[in-house]
Amino acid sequence: MQKNIAILGSTGSIGTSTLSVIRHNPALYKAYVLVGGKNVTKMVEQCLEFKPKYVAMADASSAQLLRQTLRELNNQTEVFTGEQAICDLTQLPEVDQVMAAIVGAAGLRSTLAAIKKGKRVLLANKESLVTCGHLFMQAVKEYQAELLPVDSEHNAIFQSLPTAVQRDLGFANLAEHGVSQIILTGSGGPFRDTNISELKQVTPEQAIAHPNWSMGRKISVDSATMMNKGLEYIEARWLFNAMADEMEIIIHPQSIIHSMVRYHDGSVIAELGHPDMCTPIAYSMSYPERILSGVPPLDFTQLSQLTFKQPDFSRYPCLKLAIDAYQSGQAATTSLNAANEIAVEAFLNRQIGFMEIAAVVENVLSQLSSAEPSSIEEVFHIDEWARQTARAIL
Ligand code: NAD
Ligand code: MG
Repeated sequence: MQKNIAILGSTGSIGTSTLSVIRHNPALYKAYVLVGGKNVTKMVEQCLEFKPKYVAMADASSAQLLRQTLRELNNQTEVFTGEQAICDLTQLPEVDQVMAAIVGAAGLRSTLAAIKKGKRVLLANKESLVTCGHLFMQAVKEYQAELLPVDSEHNAIFQSLPTAVQRDLGFANLAEHGVSQIILTGSGGPFRDTNISELKQVTPEQAIAHPNWSMGRKISVDSATMMNKGLEYIEARWLFNAMADEMEIIIHPQSIIHSMVRYHDGSVIAELGHPDMCTPIAYSMSYPERILSGVPPLDFTQLSQLTFKQPDFSRYPCLKLAIDAYQSGQAATTSLNAANEIAVEAFLNRQIGFMEIAAVVENVLSQLSSAEPSSIEEVFHIDEWARQTARAIL
């Protein structure tokens, strides 16, 4: 039977890849709801091609323009605006799956809305678990929602875990299922071999030139500092109920192995493939089955080598800050994420140097005195405090 998908963030990088997977499987999936911020041109194109039943734009004037344009083009899609409408569309009974791919804290409420209706949530928005891991995982259990990780590393780990763990994600005890460690791989970014003393002078252009994955500017800088791996470490701890000694982070420059699971008997199970988000997206949509993603097969004869090395915290101080923040709790991980966003923006605007990103984040964390948040509202409050504090430091 055809499944209806709501794509939150359809005009973005993950959203566009999700639509590309749907394009390969039109009999199996229908883009039923599309949600975007303010990219009207892209949304018009998507409405004409996929004819969703409903769309929403976060920005009101963009929604108005979209409505008018679609009417002129004789398109029947109904247009809504605002966060409440986005949450309502996400919760429609006809929606089978929700792709949560809005970027940043803006995605929290709609992702939670999907969880609260017990939907199958394809989770790309890593900020959900970084800032509200405890709250979200509790809600997943309470409302019997199904979380499928889209982030390529977490998707690879999910694929490499036993079915019993997959079915009780976030709560199953890894050791009881023979798992000794989750091995998170990362490319190490464009500066993995640069002299540490030269890192102070690297430019935004050098930082966003990611060797393997094609991604937005912010996440590319996060790859260069390995803050992205730090955020993914936090995401993995929540998603897989992993203790500190059950986690390992390793640099794998070729990004062919997307992450691995180590078992007590000496086995290591990995997922390999081209670095293309269409694979994890397709898997999250079709699990436990497999569908076409449009990604070409991996040709092993074309791979020259697969190499690995230990990350060095003096090269990647952001990675250490993230690992420590998880230990401190959600107030700390929320502050880490918010302070990092401000610092990365300042770096991209040439206000601060590359190595000062970590310094700003560390300074914000050292001033943190909030108690653990017990609601999304409290998370937003801490997020705002951290942003203001980071701006003041700048
Ligand atoms: P993107 O910036 O390309 O797209 C973001 C989407 O969110 C756009 O459609 C935008 O219109 C929409 N949006 C922004 N603000 C909004 C708001 N207030 N309300 C509604 N929609 C809004 O980002 P992306 O690279 O697709 O990443 C999306 C999420 O997936 C992020 O959380 C990111 O960390 C995660 N992720 C991305 C990748 C990747 O390869 N791109 C990999 C792993 C995880
Ligand atoms: Mg990732």
